[in-house]
Amino acid sequence: MRPGRRDRGGRRGRRRMTSERDAARDSQAMAPMRWEIGDITVTRVMELPTMAMEPDDLLQTTREVVARHDWLKPDYVTPDLLLRANIQAFVIEAGGKRIMVDPCVGNDKPREGQLFSMLQTPFLERLAVAGYPRESIDFVLCTHLHFDHCGWNTMLVGGEWVPTFPNARYLFARAEYACATKPQGEEEAAVYRDSVRPVMAAGLVDLVDPLHEIVAGVRLEPSPGHTPGHCCVTLESRGQTAMITGDALHHPLQAAEPDICSLYCWDKTLAVASRKSILEIASITGATLFGSHFPEPTAVRVRKAATGWRMDGVRGVRGSATSE
Ligand SMILES: [Zn+2]
Repeated sequence: MRPGRRDRGGRRGRRRMTSERDAARDSQAMAPMRWEIGDITVTRVMELPTMAMEPDDLLQTTREVVARHDWLKPDYVTPDLLLRANIQAFVIEAGGKRIMVDPCVGNDKPREGQLFSMLQTPFLERLAVAGYPRESIDFVLCTHLHFDHCGWNTMLVGGEWVPTFPNARYLFARAEYACATKPQGEEEAAVYRDSVRPVMAAGLVDLVDPLHEIVAGVRLEPSPGHTPGHCCVTLESRGQTAMITGDALHHPLQAAEPDICSLYCWDKTLAVASRKSILEIASITGATLFGSHFPEPTAVRVRKAATGWRMDGVRGVRGSATSE
């Protein structure tokens, strides 16, 4: 997700991004959620509650296109055809290791989009409540190095950006890191300075190739297009498979209309090809997909439709890893 850049331009008054107000529903929605893929667990930890936004603030599309797909309501689309999306991270537990995937926006970071700048969220407390104090994380994976997928790589301590997960190896795809070191524009430069360079300087980074296996059953899967080195994360255990899609898919609308890209894709042709490949394979294998910005139901199964694909939610279980 990269909403926010257009805050700078003349569209400020047109922006319609709202946080859902129902406090009870929000607090339930912010609780950790878990799924099991064979012996692997995936736990979702929320950073920001679900937002509703104009379709063309996230994707290259319109409300008219959204209106063609009734199945997106009510979970993924509001009654007035705004897209629902959120900011969340996943913790994979596999082979006795704890793997943080895409640690969100982070606190104290100046960003261009007002909604994401200088956040003060209790993300780390939520992570601990989910059963994963930050010191217990063994690996940090970023599907790509946009600001909303690597923010909690670091935290501000005494005016310095320090690694949030001091006992973790941070795994960056080689191509993605190479891209991050040549930032385009001030925001990408800021992300490099405050969220990438400090963990590299601390000696915590391993640059890895596509298809890198982190632990048995958990590996990277190259899915270039949104960014040059974008990787999804595939999970396999006891005959079950799943994938955390990062920004190869921003919203379930892109299952129905896979040619629709986000506003922020580096190479749209490649992004569409990566997306269609993920959807086709998931529809054949029955793999569960975890959408990095999908609101509840965040995990889905995919089936082929007359045109494109459809998604059916796979509900998880609320609660922490330690609540059993
Ligand atoms: Zn994103």
